[in-house]
Amino acid sequence: MEKLSDELEQRKKDLEENLKTVREKMAEAAVKSGRSPGEITLLAATKTVPVELINHGISLGIDHIGENRVQELCEKYPEYDLSRCELHMIGRLQTNKVKNIIGRVSMIQSVDSVKLAETISRLSAQKELSTDVLIEVNIGREANKSGVLPEALEELLLQTAAMPSVRVRGLMAIPPAQASETETMGYFSKMYKYFVDIKAKKLDNVNMIYLSMGMSSDYDRAILAGANLVRVGSALFGARTYTK
Ligand SMILES: *Cc1c(COP(=O)(O)O)cnc(C)c1O
Repeated sequence: MEKLSDELEQRKKDLEENLKTVREKMAEAAVKSGRSPGEITLLAATKTVPVELINHGISLGIDHIGENRVQELCEKYPEYDLSRCELHMIGRLQTNKVKNIIGRVSMIQSVDSVKLAETISRLSAQKELSTDVLIEVNIGREANKSGVLPEALEELLLQTAAMPSVRVRGLMAIPPAQASETETMGYFSKMYKYFVDIKAKKLDNVNMIYLSMGMSSDYDRAILAGANLVRVGSALFGARTYTK
């Protein structure tokens, strides 16, 4: 017991340091890209992180967290301190699990099909609410990766925008993990171009507010390329140790 709580205390201290570093790097990249630090949202990716450590992060000012598995989200849900913090779903989502998160999450960042958007809209309507979503783009055209292919993006946006109880709030992407820095920058730039082009089209019910891209290894570069929401896990909480 003693050892476990010592370890958690150490992780809390590390988180304080890490959060400072991440915020500094974010601010620097924001300024370099001609924006103010306040325009960029930090979302802490909290998969495998114990709720006590997450809540410590929230007490330090983290105001967006994201989980990527429905089951884990639901198990931790009663214990998150969400009074000043938004909870997002950022991972792949099966339609049969949507019912478990509607009303619990402020945003679903991983919408990549009409069927998923329809399910979110229908179940949100049943609860008399609307759910904010981002459309996830498979920018690296990877097989077996979630996200809509770029050429199908506009059609999915139009169909989703026509649904009564979802609100499109922007785009999300995860470039290929094995891409070089230069390649990743290319993917980020392409995403920024889609974001700007779609915004300029002023489609009905499509609000291009968030461009969610960048993780621990590249959040600063994502910001330089135009991201305004970064999803950072291990750079805040330390390397993940999977126990199951
Ligand atoms: C885990 C995860 C992240 C954060 O990954 P790190 O490399 O630990 O920063 C970001 N986005 C999604 C969708 C994730 O599942």
